[in-house]
Amino acid sequence: MFDITKIRDEFPILTRTVNGKPLIYFDNGATTQKPKQVIDAITNYYTNQNSNIHRGVHTLSREITIAYEEARKTIQKHLHAKFSHEIIFTKGTTDSINLVAHCFGKINIESGDEIIITQMEHHSNIVPWQLLCEEKKAILKFIPINQEGELLLDELPKLITSKTKLVAFTHISNTLGTINPVKEIIHIIRNLSHAAILVDGAQAVPHLQPDVQDLDCDFYVFSGHKLYGPTGVGILYGKEEWLNKFPPYQSGGGIIKTVTLQKTEFADLPLKLEAGTPHIEGGIGLAEAINYVTNIGFEQIQKKEHELLQYLTKKLLGIDGVTIYGTSKNKTTVVSFNVGDIHPFDIGTLLDKYGIAVRSGHHCTQPLWEFYHVPGTIRASLSFYNTIEEIDYFLDALNKSIRLLS
Ligand code: PMP
Repeated sequence: MFDITKIRDEFPILTRTVNGKPLIYFDNGATTQKPKQVIDAITNYYTNQNSNIHRGVHTLSREITIAYEEARKTIQKHLHAKFSHEIIFTKGTTDSINLVAHCFGKINIESGDEIIITQMEHHSNIVPWQLLCEEKKAILKFIPINQEGELLLDELPKLITSKTKLVAFTHISNTLGTINPVKEIIHIIRNLSHAAILVDGAQAVPHLQPDVQDLDCDFYVFSGHKLYGPTGVGILYGKEEWLNKFPPYQSGGGIIKTVTLQKTEFADLPLKLEAGTPHIEGGIGLAEAINYVTNIGFEQIQKKEHELLQYLTKKLLGIDGVTIYGTSKNKTTVVSFNVGDIHPFDIGTLLDKYGIAVRSGHHCTQPLWEFYHVPGTIRASLSFYNTIEEIDYFLDALNKSIRLLS
């Protein structure tokens, strides 16, 4: 049973007030709040376990090395990766994509090669590829979208050529909420080319459990903080055969077998790609977050979030002048909208006075807004810990804000 009172009690921040009003947190697309279980794991690390991994023979170091490697295994199991060394700890989604752009680019992109992304990507899945293409004189192509905010997959085969080396696309759009048909997209690509495939799972992992072997992607990336875990830690899943070929991303300690003054022999995976002391408590906290959501169950999470999405969408559309961007049938609890020509910042600022956190602006998807010819939106992104009562309060505050601004 999904017990909302119990669940809300597990998130300490949800009891605080903002501007004298109970916090209503509708900015989960930017980052999710943390359950006590995750906060406790981090506190416990600093209270009882703090030590550096992989380098010590003393008890604390051995204990924390085991805990960190267990966290890696939890993430491997969650993603259904074949090997735990296919799980690389990074700083987050952006860092993971940069790692792939750097390493894959170095060994596999030449002048005239092509990389395909989509028009709905977060800047983190655009800019690294632009830089790589500039450096290597490669070509960047885009899968366009339709008015509903869905990828035009009929265009994909026309974009793929013998020069296509990599296709990178988001699993769920952070701005539109669209859930892309990842398996179908990968099937199209695999049928037509040998291109490597990277899936940006930043917005997907809080809502669903990806199976990387079933999807058959080469890389799957996400951030801990969007999955109820800590900031500063993220994951790059990569197929062993790719990661083995990768040169080191960054160099230094922790990634070596032997170093002489002339030459270095590098460690095996995963350490080869994890230079320096990592975000130890981040990895441990992320595994705890995965345990937390797994315990609730993604079926329950999706059921609750679907109910919230339906309710919010229906009520919003009942307000005069509201336009929702992203109306795919297959979408998650991300609702981007504008009200007439009121500036999103004005509404966001007024909602804050009511204790409501939403995001206003371009949400790091400026090319997407070129398509819709608007500079940005208000984005309400909900989690399973939000409620219908919170939506009602939000709608009331929104209506009052609109009256004030009209
Ligand atoms: N991709 C998507 C789809 C995102 O939503 C985000 C974060 N908004 C990112 C990439 C970048 O994530 P991070 O800032 O945690 O690296």
